[in-house]
Amino acid sequence: MTDRILGLHHITAIAGNARRNQQFYTKVLGQRLVKKTVNFDDPGTYHFYFGNEAGTPGTILTFFPWESMGPGRTGSGMATGIGYSVPKDSLEFWKDRFNQAGTKQGEIGQRFGEQYLPFQDPDGLNIDLIVSSTPDDRPSWTTAETTTENAIKGFHSVTLTLRSIKPTATILTDIFGYKLLEQEGPRYRYITDAIENAAIVDLIEAPSAPHGYNAAGTNHHVAFRVKNDEILMEFREKIAKKGLHITPKIDRDYFFSLYFREPGGVLFELATDNPGFTRDEPQNELGTHLKLPRQYESDRARIEAVLPSLD
Ligand code: ZN
Repeated sequence: MTDRILGLHHITAIAGNARRNQQFYTKVLGQRLVKKTVNFDDPGTYHFYFGNEAGTPGTILTFFPWESMGPGRTGSGMATGIGYSVPKDSLEFWKDRFNQAGTKQGEIGQRFGEQYLPFQDPDGLNIDLIVSSTPDDRPSWTTAETTTENAIKGFHSVTLTLRSIKPTATILTDIFGYKLLEQEGPRYRYITDAIENAAIVDLIEAPSAPHGYNAAGTNHHVAFRVKNDEILMEFREKIAKKGLHITPKIDRDYFFSLYFREPGGVLFELATDNPGFTRDEPQNELGTHLKLPRQYESDRARIEAVLPSLD
């Protein structure tokens, strides 16, 4: 069981203003900032990780906030929807909360027999709060306002929009071990039984959808979860054998990663459970310090001076 893809590990999206992004995810959505670090390829920019108390894989939404970044365009060849799992009977609470916060939201709807509330974050990123039809016992991070009765539990699913779903579906079924569960219109639901939650990928077939443009308010990549480095490298071989270009193993400090672009155009990552977010700060202090990768530590003063203020 543990040598399989264990659902979603994290999703990474692009934001504009850093402070607005941090405030929305921690204050309005009640997520924990589990790591405050910098973009390893652009250390003048933050990299935020939001999730549950420990930043458990399957709960982590991460952002690169670029202050001057203009809006992107949601379209084909990208992840176009994030689904968060919330408790039964909590959607009215969220509807009121979004009203008070001035958050753009839609009407409560139903998909595959599950109720959901669609909304957009301040950069226009599309997210649904979904009441899962399967039990979700994951412990949620709670705040004074978002309590266990309504707090987000982690990911329910991710949605990819594609001109044609077949090549992507083949990756999911033949390499990742997912199965087609149901279809509703152009939406095809794939699920893995290797894990109980964050186990769903929805593929929307949109033959004439314009290609997405990756900038603020859009998703950058989707990371799938594997137990450890050994299994990571087994998947590297399987993916390379299909003739897809895949990176070598990359040390992301909190996990080890591989990246490849699936044939439908979406950037996929595989990421390990080890070593996790307590690698450089204890669990009760997660997200409270600016953590820099070793190669930038000597440059800390200059980096701190250029990073945007969060208070
Ligand atoms: Zn990633």
